[in-house]
Amino acid sequence: MSDVLTTTAPLLCPHAFPITVLANATLTVGRVSVFGSPDLQNGIVACTFAQAPCTKVASVGTGASALVVDGNAVVLDSVVASTNVGLISVGPPPPPPGPLTAS
Ligand SMILES: [Zn+2]
Repeated sequence: MSDVLTTTAPLLCPHAFPITVLANATLTVGRVSVFGSPDLQNGIVACTFAQAPCTKVASVGTGASALVVDGNAVVLDSVVASTNVGLISVGPPPPPPGPLTAS
């Protein structure tokens, strides 16, 4: 069982730089915005890897089509997508906001 990718789950290029996906505001599950494969295809890759930086999301493969909302395939966390350099991975969700603690 895969989870739906939401705007809270960071996507990382092969060099671990973040990929920003602007979710389609019409696609929400509960109150969390999700995104479809066209949104992911248009993701902004903030990669500054020196030798061969990623410049775009090159492909969105299987895992993006199992669930359809309003005609858009919703991207699941099992999605296999890649930049022009290599595979995109899904990072851990950010920790919930809470009081700062001294360490
Ligand atoms: Zn990269």
